Amino acid sequence: MTTARIHSMETFGSVDGPGVRFVLFLQGCRMRCRYCHNPDSWKLDGGEEKSAEEILNYALRYKSYWGTQGGITVSGGEPLLQIDFLLEFFKACKEAGIHTTIDTAAGPFTREVPFFSKFEKLMQYTDLLMVDVKDIDPERHLDLTRVKLDNIIDCLRFLDSISKPVWLRHVLVAGYTDDDGEILRFKEFAQSLHNVRKIEVLPYHSFGMYKWEALGMKYSLADVEPPSAERVEQVLNMLDAQSYPDYK
Ligand code: SF4
Repeated sequence: MTTARIHSMETFGSVDGPGVRFVLFLQGCRMRCRYCHNPDSWKLDGGEEKSAEEILNYALRYKSYWGTQGGITVSGGEPLLQIDFLLEFFKACKEAGIHTTIDTAAGPFTREVPFFSKFEKLMQYTDLLMVDVKDIDPERHLDLTRVKLDNIIDCLRFLDSISKPVWLRHVLVAGYTDDDGEILRFKEFAQSLHNVRKIEVLPYHSFGMYKWEALGMKYSLADVEPPSAERVEQVLNMLDAQSYPDYK
């Protein structure tokens, strides 16, 4: 039996996929996003260890709230770093008839084995992926997250090739990820895919700043203000977000 390292769990998630969801946040991430609101989830060997069976039994207590649309989302940290657990967990979820979603930044994706063969198998048990594209420009992506963009784009191309439904997410950070030219490049990229069901624009916030300070790290975006609701709306329009089937 494979165990997972857990950061936390949310029993009534409403922003991490369709409907009401049980959200499992896995521990561990190799990205270093400047705006990360959970830097306490980075440490690969932190968190609490639990088995797939234990988590599923706990999540099932909330099944009656999920209705026809809801289900289970695994987020992070970076969930794909614990792909062996995900495979076992989502297989059991599908056997129990549960809608499954992965909320990922796709950083660990590679076409090399053993990861790729596990990922292909995992897709058989995954209904939806929410993929956070931090920045469509490779250099800016590297500056923002300290990891490369190319394998993330490759992951999205692969998901397109197998027609796996995807929601794209983009965090809007003034002076970093809200440049009109980049937004239009992101739009072009999204439109080149055939499996995108929704695009979400998430306004940057600094709620996690205190965690950086508590961990003794410098928060580099301390002077950045959240975008206005009007700017978020404008970016959604630029991306033609209303044209995607799951847009609400
Ligand atoms: S991918 Fe998510 S958890 Fe990892 S550093 Fe970025 S925001 Fe934080």
